[in-house]
Amino acid sequence: MSTPVVLITGGAGFLGSHLSDRFLAEGYEVICMDNLITGSLRNIEHLVTEAKFHFVHQDVTEFIHVPGRLDAVLHFASPASPIDYLNYPIQTLKVGSLGTHKALGLAHAKGARFLLASTSECYGDPLVHPQKEDYWGNVNPVGPRGVYDEAKRFAEAMTMGYHRYHALESRIVRIFNTYGPRMRLNDGRALPAFMGQALRGEPLTVFGDGSQTRSFCYVSDLVDGIYRLLHSDEAYPTNIGNPSEMTILEFAKTVLELTGSRSELSFMDLPEDDPKVRQPDIGKARKVLGWEPKVELLDGLRVTLDYFRGCPEFAGTDAATPTSGAEA
Ligand code: UDP
Repeated sequence: MSTPVVLITGGAGFLGSHLSDRFLAEGYEVICMDNLITGSLRNIEHLVTEAKFHFVHQDVTEFIHVPGRLDAVLHFASPASPIDYLNYPIQTLKVGSLGTHKALGLAHAKGARFLLASTSECYGDPLVHPQKEDYWGNVNPVGPRGVYDEAKRFAEAMTMGYHRYHALESRIVRIFNTYGPRMRLNDGRALPAFMGQALRGEPLTVFGDGSQTRSFCYVSDLVDGIYRLLHSDEAYPTNIGNPSEMTILEFAKTVLELTGSRSELSFMDLPEDDPKVRQPDIGKARKVLGWEPKVELLDGLRVTLDYFRGCPEFAGTDAATPTSGAEA
């Protein structure tokens, strides 16, 4: 049997690089495409010697040419943290709209299966809790998060357009907060922000009173859900995330305990349109994919913390030593 080929847009990003690992391990040839505005070669440097791994430096809002066979296109290119889409609002809108169009067109031309990385941002600041796939969301199109939320909603609509009009084999994953090694320390998200601050001994910046909730999924669980979804028959959106919900204040305290840091908590203004609650209903993923998350939060956090300790900012410093911050 010949080797299946997958194109992963945003392949040098946090999720794209873990997907590259998984698809290579499953015997795929992986074409990893990234313009590196938020992705990093560091995430894929361990793969460059793999014969079945190919990196292409390209912006996917430009015409995508891939020679030869293609069995699947995973469209993961997009700035994906609040700081990133505030810094790159136009690129975020373009990659969700024009980039999705190019990736869909390529999948259609090649007869490849298409999987869109959508997110819980489609639900906005949700009025239904936990969020089920049939909830249409509560999104402010003109707020600062609108560039990301609406890009993902448009991308879903366009994917369904190709599915219905061209009979494209398509899948849509709605990703909830995910964490793990290869997140960027300074991408502004709660988890790297808190871990970085704890390791530096700086105050942890809790936005608002910290009563807003999130549900954190470890990256290997997410990747497994996506792998199963691609190989399923489900064309409509499917939530993949960890339903164990906690407040951001609880989360900050968990990071303090784990790191043994003496950092204080510093309460800051809540950003505009920051969702008050978020928890995936994963009933559909359980039923259709036989999937549910396995990694316990503390286990996943430990691995992630070790990764941050090894990042250039901390390597060789006291913070890099696991016991250095812990109370004696
Ligand atoms: N947050 C925080 N301090 C930070 C960064 C984020 O309290 O330094 C909050 C943020 O306001 C949100 C939650 O943590 O309520 C999760 O934020 P993140 O950026 O990780 O992802 P989001 O789920 O908002 O896209």
